[in-house]
Amino acid sequence: MDGVWDLVVVGGGPAGAAAALRARQIRPRARVLLLDREDFPRDKACGDGIAAHGLAELDLLGVGGLLSDYRPVRRLAVVSPGGERVHAAVARPNLVVPRRVFDARLVEAARARGVEVRRHRVRALADTGGHVTLDGPVAAGPAGPGVSGEITARAVVAADGANSTVRRLIGVPATADQHTALAVRGYADAQAGDDTQLVVMQKDGWPAYAWSFPVGDGSANVGFGMLLPRLRAAGAPARRVLCDRLAELLPHLPARDLRAHLLPLSCGRPVPGAGRVLLAGDAASLINPLTGEGIYYALLSGRLAAEAALAAPGDPLPAYRRALRGALGRHLRTTDALALAARFPGFIDAAIGTAARRREVFDLLVEVGLGAGTVPAPLVCAVAGRWLTAGLRRS
Ligand SMILES: Cc1cc2nc3c(=O)[nH]c(=O)nc-3n(C[C@H](O)[C@H](O)[C@H](O)COP(=O)(O)OP(=O)(O)OC[C@H]3O[C@@H](n4cnc5c(N)ncnc54)[C@H](O)[C@@H]3O)c2cc1C
Repeated sequence: MDGVWDLVVVGGGPAGAAAALRARQIRPRARVLLLDREDFPRDKACGDGIAAHGLAELDLLGVGGLLSDYRPVRRLAVVSPGGERVHAAVARPNLVVPRRVFDARLVEAARARGVEVRRHRVRALADTGGHVTLDGPVAAGPAGPGVSGEITARAVVAADGANSTVRRLIGVPATADQHTALAVRGYADAQAGDDTQLVVMQKDGWPAYAWSFPVGDGSANVGFGMLLPRLRAAGAPARRVLCDRLAELLPHLPARDLRAHLLPLSCGRPVPGAGRVLLAGDAASLINPLTGEGIYYALLSGRLAAEAALAAPGDPLPAYRRALRGALGRHLRTTDALALAARFPGFIDAAIGTAARRREVFDLLVEVGLGAGTVPAPLVCAVAGRWLTAGLRRS
């Protein structure tokens, strides 16, 4: 045991790195330990799209220049399940940065700020009331004498991803299948000058969509994702369904290095922690149910969790809840409602059709899909009206 850490962060993805960076930013002398079961750089299945909102979070964390060597991607094209299309420049450009690069740079920035980074897989946790103990002493057994890898913290930020071990250890159930998606991503050769993030939705098994996001180096991140219940209903092994559909929707972009991972969507979000342990990022199921974007919410929630953990280590949950509610409350209620409406592909056709005709609607949908945006009631009525009219015309 090496004394009591002010903050231990479990997981070195965007949520964990943001928490570690923020902790040392607001209290430069805080003892902060960042644990990850893997060494960096490491790969992570992701579309690699970093929304402008996530880039603003990097600015707040004091690492705004971290990705300045990557080319901004200025255009977004979306094809709806029924074939409506919109293709326009986004108000603020996004980036596409392989996670092998992005996460390693974030962890390195945290280390440079004085965070201790260790390779360590967390397997056990006890909240004693006075502090949290991770991986306490292991009893002697046939393999040899007992060892003490014990780590003690005033507070813990659990940012250990979609299959969070810490979340299970504090008794918070995993997100229900109906609110969980599975997606596969790969890399394909792309035109070097390609400046458009493309999303192609599919009616069969809806909600389901493929994407192609240009990295800017002659490659593109391509992938396809579906909700778990729809995937199971397809009646073939999940990976085969995802890969076949990706090939079918983007036949001109054959993918290599395919890798799949779960996406716990925010409409199934849990309580964001217990006692001195706060959940952030995918561990808190903060992925946008309309787009599958999670990096911005991971950076934001990691930052807010660190602020609460340092301000009130004895009881950080109320402050964290308040901060999350302030930053994302209305947005999450909006995406909860839209995710229900989006179960009907015709609603998405109407929304994309409206966005193709009205610039301000396109901008608003980007804010809702990639940031913390909300939708004004008159717009919901306009889209619903368009959807109903289209339905009546068909019938
Ligand atoms: C195929 C796919 C495509 C996606 N595309 C996009 C996209 O384009 N843009 C976007 O914004 N979002 C996208 N997402 C979502 C995004 O990847 C996640 O929301 C984001 O990675 C969440 O970050 P995180 O820090 O919470 O978790 P992670 O990035 O998963 O990091 C968790 C870390 O915890 C570590 N860990 C796990 N268990 C332990 C343990 N027991 N002990 C110690 N360490 C542990 C892991 O090694 C890992 O480094 C996509 C997701 C998928 C699956």
